[in-house]
Amino acid sequence: MDREIFVTIIGAEGRMGAELLANVSLMEGISVTDAVVRPGSESVGSVIGPEGVRVTDDMDTAVENADVVIDFSAPEACLAAAECAARFETPFVSGTTGLSEAQIAELKGRSSDAAVLWAANFSVGVNVLEQLVELGVKAAGEGFDIEICEAHHRRKVDAPSGTALFLGRAAARARDVDLDDVAVHGREGHTGARSDEEIGFQVIRGGSIVGEHTVYLAAEGERIELTHRATDRGIFARGALRAAQWMAGRHPGWYSMKDVLFGDS
Ligand code: NAD
Repeated sequence: MDREIFVTIIGAEGRMGAELLANVSLMEGISVTDAVVRPGSESVGSVIGPEGVRVTDDMDTAVENADVVIDFSAPEACLAAAECAARFETPFVSGTTGLSEAQIAELKGRSSDAAVLWAANFSVGVNVLEQLVELGVKAAGEGFDIEICEAHHRRKVDAPSGTALFLGRAAARARDVDLDDVAVHGREGHTGARSDEEIGFQVIRGGSIVGEHTVYLAAEGERIELTHRATDRGIFARGALRAAQWMAGRHPGWYSMKDVLFGDS
């Protein structure tokens, strides 16, 4: 789409909201029309961000005003915003993590009325890593154990991270199994040797770590470590804004960052 597009941000007062507001002011062809915050927030009515965007808790009006909605908030707010976006047939981009399988299914259901793109990680690097994991697991074949280790800042609420699960799903897909059937979270309560099939998840929380993920493919006598380190939260915001530009005017459907980064259009 060549014309300027207007986005509404859900969760505008959060860390990612601040990144989106800061990064959008550096990009051409995209502006923020409304910044949606938690209902009853003291900042309603004020303006935030370098471009002085109106802060509101009126989700309906904010979504109606937008070409695309970008959500980085919390599971309940994400689903409420998705319902609203579906009602107005407004394309919806979300990076909110910690959604249960049932909540992901609900989000997918909204994609029959509006274009919906959900990504556990909007960085270009992690989406390339996901492709490498699938390729690596397929190529390595049997005899390689898969362990995924992730580290994040001390305030992160969900564990393991949505990105770790995203990478785990790529590994499971390469082995033609369902991640839920083979995932082992931590080793507490697990005695004895690990099984060949399992995909292990280990979690570190501390300080201000933006996000680190390593997928280990460990065999007898050798191992591969595929690592991504995020050092600046701006990568997620820029990826989400790029996705929003790609989503403007899109038909209803369920899209991913793979479509944005590796698709034809
Ligand atoms: P945060 O806690 O700093 O911000 C979340 C904001 O959402 C808060 O300001 C909260 O008040 C707001 N909120 C809650 N309910 C709301 C509602 N009903 N309406 C409007 N706003 C509401 O968290 P954060 O670090 O900004 O992360 C937000 C989400 O994005 C988390 O789920 C996080 O894991 C995820 N995240 C995803 C990526 C990615 O690339 N996909 C990257 C970073 C963070």
